[in-house]
Amino acid sequence: MLEVPINRIITLNDEQPNMDAPYVLYWMIAFRRVNYNFSIQRAIEWANKLSKPLLIFEPMTIDYPMASIRFHKFAIEGMQDIQKQTEKSKAFYFPYVEEKRGVADKLLIELAKNAAVVITDDYPTYFVPQMTAEAKGSIQTTYELVDSNGLLPIRIAEKEYVRAHDFRRFMHKNIEDFLVEVPEKDPLEYLNLKFDEKLLEPIFKKYELVDFNKVNTQDFLNNLNVDKSVEISDIVGGYNAAKSRLDLFAEKGFNDYSKLRSHPSEDASSQLSPYFHFGHISTYEVFEKIISNESWSVENIDPNFVGRREGWWGGSANLESFFDELITWRELGYHTCVKRANYDQYQSLPDWAIKTLDDHANDEREYIYDLSEFTNANTHDEIWNAAQNQLKTEGRIHNYLRMLWGKKILEWTPNPQIALSYLIDLNDRFALDGRDPNSYSGVFWILGRYDRAWGPERPIYGKIRYMTSKSTATKFNLKPYLEKWSVGSTV
Ligand SMILES: Cc1cc2nc3c(=O)[nH]c(=O)nc-3n(C[C@H](O)[C@H](O)[C@H](O)COP(=O)(O)OP(=O)(O)OC[C@H]3O[C@@H](n4cnc5c(N)ncnc54)[C@H](O)[C@@H]3O)c2cc1C
Repeated sequence: MLEVPINRIITLNDEQPNMDAPYVLYWMIAFRRVNYNFSIQRAIEWANKLSKPLLIFEPMTIDYPMASIRFHKFAIEGMQDIQKQTEKSKAFYFPYVEEKRGVADKLLIELAKNAAVVITDDYPTYFVPQMTAEAKGSIQTTYELVDSNGLLPIRIAEKEYVRAHDFRRFMHKNIEDFLVEVPEKDPLEYLNLKFDEKLLEPIFKKYELVDFNKVNTQDFLNNLNVDKSVEISDIVGGYNAAKSRLDLFAEKGFNDYSKLRSHPSEDASSQLSPYFHFGHISTYEVFEKIISNESWSVENIDPNFVGRREGWWGGSANLESFFDELITWRELGYHTCVKRANYDQYQSLPDWAIKTLDDHANDEREYIYDLSEFTNANTHDEIWNAAQNQLKTEGRIHNYLRMLWGKKILEWTPNPQIALSYLIDLNDRFALDGRDPNSYSGVFWILGRYDRAWGPERPIYGKIRYMTSKSTATKFNLKPYLEKWSVGSTV
């Protein structure tokens, strides 16, 4: 098994491993998967080195910001898959969905007391960095954060990149090593010692171990005191669903990706973002699938195209275009969140954007809606309402319409600060892929992040890039999309 690269590991304290403790603990909080996961791999490294078995603890708290039955159901489907995947392994998997606030934290403290080493996930946004930092006070043994977010380690850049073009250049110059240092497909195969469940008997007297493949998930969810106004989506969570989505994409959508990805009525994009957000699948696995389909290898790389959107990978137009989203755009968001503590604040926008938005803050708005009108897709614009309806019902919006959706919120609110707060609320509350570094990339892009000034200067937008429903309707055949998602349509 390849050693986890050192630039993916942060040691959070100076403690030595507790050799008297009976197991190594992997506290799984962001990379909720077994395959291609550097965190699990690091935990196995420690377990084998110290001759200890491995306990994988995956909690789901009840009161995290924006918690709802939609996200709980998606996460539990992930747990069901991991439960099946680990059944025959030597590790012990303990999924825990909190029913009362604070219980999962207490359970973590109890499990950590008996851990020789604690490993957890290094995720740069949402409540996670604060939670992992706070846990330091309760962990009296070696405690490490491991980064399995993407192809590039999230902390290797020395500076912040404020334009995709510059980040792409940096990525092209640095990524080759990380195409070799790949996480193991099935790290559990390397684990030496089997976990003896008896070790957890005292814990199971206090905390119930639920087999999510045996309980009725619907009943379980109904009994949880969690927001049910954000309803369950038909999109199924978990590794198996992610893998099926990937297979389908590789077989069909990918072949038209560069041409059709922006067409709202087509299914040409991968639709993998919810699975990336919940950590149900690794971008390494997606990368490997695509390159094996194209028989691509690092020899294809053409250094003459460093920094260019197309050409550097030396692959098909579809591969170039897909990797630009999957790697350049996705990982830029992670790097920004690492480098910029105020990544979710209005003041993090570029100076030119703040200035132009300020200059136009008092411009007259033809339409103004409040959060409840936006939430209920109750505007004058059929396309906007359809996009919001898809977000509210299904938990996603097609990427092109997501841009239009965001631009109109800027246009139809009293000022850009209110627009930002509505954008974050709606995106994080309803989107399965929300609460992610790329939520902030997308939402802040609406207001100028990663973009440049555009002319002519317009009311409300100033020099911020402008979009209209009319031009969207001219550009694409929206009929099938509107038939499906217009408010009042039967889906
Ligand atoms: C207002 C707004 C809000 C957004 N909120 C989110 C969000 O909460 N979570 C989220 O993951 N993305 C967000 N995005 C970016 C983008 O809409 C989604 O990543 C993309 O639509 C996901 O669909 P897909 O998986 O089919 O993408 P594909 O086209 O198949 O791309 C593959 C992967 O590349 C990444 N990617 C694609 N486009 C972008 C992009 N523009 N920026 C960053 N990464 C990208 C995603 O991880 C995606 O799954 C937002 C964009 C906007 C304009």
